[in-house]
Amino acid sequence: MQLLSFLLSLILAAGPGFLIPKPVSHEPAVGHYEPREDGKDIRIRLGDKTLQHLTGDLPAFAAEEAYMVTVSMRGIDIRALTQTGAVRARQTLDQLRLLSEDGTLECGTIVDWPRFAHRGFMMDLSRHFRNKDFILKQLDAMALLKMNVLHLHLTDDAGWRIQIDRYPRLTSLAAWREGDTWSQWQEKGNHYLEEGTPGAYGGYLTKDELREIVAYAAERKIEVIPEIEMPGHSAEVLRAYPGVACLGPDGNPVYTSDVCPGSEETFRLFQAVLDEVMEIFPSRRIHIGGDEAGKQSWRDCPRCKARMEAEGLSSVEQLQSYLVRRMEKYLISKGRRLLGWDEIMEGGLAPEATVLSWRGTEQGMEAIAMGHDVIFSPTGYMYLDYPQDDPLTEPEGFGSYQPLSQVYSFNPEAGLPAGGRAHLLGLQGNLWAEMIPTDEHYEYMMYPRLAAIAEIGWTPQEDRSYADFRERALAFCELLEEQGYHPFNLAGEVGERPESQQELVHLGRGALVTYRTPFHAKYAAAGDGALTDGRLGRWGFARGDWQGFESDMDVILDLGEIRPLHYVGATFLSSIGAWIALPERMEIALSSDGAHFTTAAVIRRPLREESSTMYIPYGAAVTADARYVRIRAFRADAPQHDWLFTDEIVVN
Ligand SMILES: [Zn+2]
Repeated sequence: MQLLSFLLSLILAAGPGFLIPKPVSHEPAVGHYEPREDGKDIRIRLGDKTLQHLTGDLPAFAAEEAYMVTVSMRGIDIRALTQTGAVRARQTLDQLRLLSEDGTLECGTIVDWPRFAHRGFMMDLSRHFRNKDFILKQLDAMALLKMNVLHLHLTDDAGWRIQIDRYPRLTSLAAWREGDTWSQWQEKGNHYLEEGTPGAYGGYLTKDELREIVAYAAERKIEVIPEIEMPGHSAEVLRAYPGVACLGPDGNPVYTSDVCPGSEETFRLFQAVLDEVMEIFPSRRIHIGGDEAGKQSWRDCPRCKARMEAEGLSSVEQLQSYLVRRMEKYLISKGRRLLGWDEIMEGGLAPEATVLSWRGTEQGMEAIAMGHDVIFSPTGYMYLDYPQDDPLTEPEGFGSYQPLSQVYSFNPEAGLPAGGRAHLLGLQGNLWAEMIPTDEHYEYMMYPRLAAIAEIGWTPQEDRSYADFRERALAFCELLEEQGYHPFNLAGEVGERPESQQELVHLGRGALVTYRTPFHAKYAAAGDGALTDGRLGRWGFARGDWQGFESDMDVILDLGEIRPLHYVGATFLSSIGAWIALPERMEIALSSDGAHFTTAAVIRRPLREESSTMYIPYGAAVTADARYVRIRAFRADAPQHDWLFTDEIVVN
């Protein structure tokens, strides 16, 4: 450690440079060196003593990837303890070479190792299919960022994407659907089509293609983790093999998204699938999904009921846990470990499972406290399907606002329980593809936010700063464009919702609000005062400044005294993918005594769903003296119109 401190004291902090992720240390030296095209001037020393001293105190995963690169007028020296470290060094050199304007490299020394063992990215191949070449192309970019895990979400309701020989209907039927886009597929009633049907949308990766992807990734020291979803998000499996479906009262299969944990066929099918999956993917961990099972069909299914009785299970959560534990046992018997979304904790976590904490970080913290390994991908930071700029001009997307700065601000170690660091494997970004039909759009959502994730995963927290990163991210975007990628235009970023950037002064500010229908505890914003605090919401519904109602909304403002009023209004936001919609009408009523109200205005809006994200003011001129203002907003009787969200009731 002494030598390390000594060297680090000599080495300057990494300069502005254009390296992402930022290296642990970077000591520039005088001069530039022009590397040879054939790479024969690169000398690699593995198991090097100098580096061994430097990395003596590092955890094993960091030492494995550690490297030292020295560029001098005499050539390039790479020191590493393992092949992986040497590959990371080459990836840094690749980046420097690509960023160099004249083909030369600045002389100097970089000493570097990662902060976390798992620096991952999840691709959703189900909702929209992506082919082998597209995946290989993204592996190149991931390698440039020294990311080391590609998680493939291979199966879901919208299509099965991996060849399975024992169960051919999974691809001959369940990989093809009616409707190219998510909304078309929903509108047409979620039908699957036989392979070869004219107009069928879909596809799958053959075993040969997947082996090629795994090998290509392995050359770049990227592990590919396959995900086979169960027991939820499995509607396509039920259609291909109804034997895995629950039974209804008439004894016929019930077609939900959940497979039947009571049916032995469920275990036969998924174990056979996992056998073939494990032949292709050598990854230590296999992801079995586990998220968002509705479990409704399990309550009445005779097979599920029999299973619960036989196993002494008292809830459907325990029934899910039974399935997950049985799958874990199977994977362990094959020398693998189970990885699942954080819902696998419900009903009792399988003994050796690794948890991918997505609903937040609390679930992961809890699993860490229980001694389980955890990877963080919380929606509020790591979901790359959320729009990254002004949602009104960005392509249609799901969820909240997730700009580059928000992604970069995630610190996986914040709030970690004592002694928990060893169980925190790292983090990953997830890109769900419901709203992403094209390759270009997919890359647009990935970059440059993936670079932020790479840097969180690699660079020590104390060496990170967004201002510094953003400059490097701009250069990285240019580089990506040169290489034929389609990143978001970071240079033209609009940024936060302008209305939210200053407080709004109006008559209703500070008025007491009586809630005749309650706001939802999860979307309370500033609580009882949120609708009259003068603060307007930022982009996105889930950032704590929009108040959400899972009902019609009915509130009364008390202005404290009778005043002449001229205007009453409120802005509502819609995010159809999150079941948040605009009210179909809003009624404004006024009163002097708080008991007798007179309707002053009714604002109607025809039901429209052409765009999922809108911020629409509902307001009207009024002419009356009043102390009390009652606002009622009514949801339309339509699918996905479950919630109302507003930020402020403006009175003037
Ligand atoms: Zn069942």
